[in-house]
Amino acid sequence: MNNKILVTGGAGYIGSHTCVALHQAGYDIVVYDNLSNSSYEAVNRVSALIGQPIEFIEGDIRNAGLLREVFDKHRFFGVIHFAGLKAVGESVARPLIYYDNNVSGTINLLNVMEEYSVSNLIFSSSATVYGDPETLPINETSPRSCTNPYGQSKLTVEHILGDLAVSNDKWNLITLRYFNPVGAHPSGQIGEDPNDIPNNLMPYISQVAAGKLTKLSIFGNDYSTVDGTGVRDFIHVTDLAQGHVAALSYLKKQSSPVGFLPVNLGTGKGTSVLELVSAFIETTKQSIPYKFAARREGDIASCYASADKAKKLFGWKAKLSITDMCQDTWRWQSMNPNGYKSISEYKI
Ligand code: NAD
Ligand code: UDP
Repeated sequence: MNNKILVTGGAGYIGSHTCVALHQAGYDIVVYDNLSNSSYEAVNRVSALIGQPIEFIEGDIRNAGLLREVFDKHRFFGVIHFAGLKAVGESVARPLIYYDNNVSGTINLLNVMEEYSVSNLIFSSSATVYGDPETLPINETSPRSCTNPYGQSKLTVEHILGDLAVSNDKWNLITLRYFNPVGAHPSGQIGEDPNDIPNNLMPYISQVAAGKLTKLSIFGNDYSTVDGTGVRDFIHVTDLAQGHVAALSYLKKQSSPVGFLPVNLGTGKGTSVLELVSAFIETTKQSIPYKFAARREGDIASCYASADKAKKLFGWKAKLSITDMCQDTWRWQSMNPNGYKSISEYKI
């Protein structure tokens, strides 16, 4: 049985946690990452956690020559494709870089997969492809629309995967639409390590708790939600990682190709920004000074998944609670006040 998986972007936040889960499930992994938004230290930490060195190639998914060398050396069952850029604001300022990395990079990867007859792909998509949802919870047939280049790049890749599946029925193209990944490995060894001041809520909260940032701004308290603040479906990153293992097991069991298969990975539960802040304070006993600020442009009021399809097809469901998410985030933050960087490298 071929259990070898190429993990693009495997040095990143979700990729590193998924590498641990894949190894535990018996897969051999090869990580391919250009380290544009990650650190080699994450790969070292994953190696330490799994008790053996990981095969790592520093490379860009837009480099077909290097990808071919990797595919020449290894016979892969499939590819889990995390590599991409993910900052919405930066994508508005630098759209070409986003389309080049996320769309051209994926086309390049798919071409090489085709050359080597590797037809199993798990792609990192996002709940952002649903735009401002008309109904909640969001299921996989909800209409898709995006308002920023990051979201467009994910939606464009989804369209490409859909077209590819129609063109040839050999393909198995699972597109996992993540809701809001948070938390860290319970060991405190790997976690989310933003390069700059975080844009996302949970890393911002944890840096306020650590005293690195002074105050959280809560963007909007006049939404029509439980307490006026935005509602999201926060999912523990280790549950998300298990979702990838479950998707691979599903693929292994299929007797005929699945084509293009979109599946939500969320908990199915919405939590408001204020509820998350309260849970963090309660769990960690840290104080989180905050103020209410204007709504952030492009934000929506509420977003949470229907997680039924993942349960039905993969037998997967998220197990960990908001308390686990806060506890594990805080453990990672406390044990690694500068993330993967040494103190001298740290620049906020
Ligand atoms: P991340 O930035 O931590 O990881 C992405 C990894 O890809 C990084 O290690 C980066 O160095 C690498 N990379 C980027 N461009 C590359 C390229 N051209 N060639 C090779 N490697 C490259 O991000 P993450 O949070 O782990 O997200 C993983 C994937 O999931 C991304 O595609 C992201 O868009 C998607 N996603 C993330 C979230 C989230 O909130 N974190 C939500 C939905 C979807
Ligand atoms: N948010 C906030 N302050 C911050 C960062 C985020 O109030 O410093 C809110 C944001 O407006 C949204 C929620 O937290 O309602 C989740 O935002 P995040 O950027 O983490 O994820 P998104 O769902 O936007 O991808």
